[in-house]
Amino acid sequence: MKVSENLSGIKQRVEESARRSGRQAEDVKIIAVTKYVTTARAQEAIEAGILHLGENRAEGLNEKYEAIGEAAAWHFIGSLQTRKVKSIIDKVDYIHSLDRESLAKEINRRAEKTVRCFIQVNVSGEESKHGLPPQEVIPFIQSLHPYEKIQVCGLMTMAPLTEEKSVLRACFRKLALCREEVKALNLPYAPCNELSMGMSNDFELAVEEGATMIRIGTALVGE
Ligand SMILES: *Cc1c(COP(=O)(O)O)cnc(C)c1O
Repeated sequence: MKVSENLSGIKQRVEESARRSGRQAEDVKIIAVTKYVTTARAQEAIEAGILHLGENRAEGLNEKYEAIGEAAAWHFIGSLQTRKVKSIIDKVDYIHSLDRESLAKEINRRAEKTVRCFIQVNVSGEESKHGLPPQEVIPFIQSLHPYEKIQVCGLMTMAPLTEEKSVLRACFRKLALCREEVKALNLPYAPCNELSMGMSNDFELAVEEGATMIRIGTALVGE
């Protein structure tokens, strides 16, 4: 399938989910996750009108950035090793996986300007998942105060691998509640307006529960 055909189907489903929950589809950004596909396929996504690309490895991001550069906004969505920060920091617009102070420190040390970061939250508590447990999110964000180049733009989660809608919905809802708690702190460096949640199999529920960025790989550009 062409990316453009996949994209129009996804946009329609986003619109329907937004309508069901009294939201605007324009408030949901679609990130094309290109980690499984070639640079040519990522370029096809740009030509189809995609503005945001997501990669989960520094190597993949660097390779595609070389060809695509500033034609897209770049999202680092995978767990990020501290020693890889240097190689991506001047290319990425968003990091979706901030989950420890040592990483914050390295981002702060290497960045030339403000970096928008999502705190990754392990809502479901599955051991295999990265991210902070919900109760540690606020203390962690408070600990980021000294790192003046970090802006906490939002929270990110990966839902558990299940078809059970009630489980998925509860996960997204919990992340949205957590965001409200962060916003209530009114920290200048943590506006926390964004919710990065929803992938190929669960983005409609995520949009219904308030996602502002959905990360779509398989259903958009393929495996
Ligand atoms: C791979 C990946 C995605 C996209 O997954 P699909 O199911 O292919 O849409 C989204 N977010 C993260 C963090 C990923 O690693």
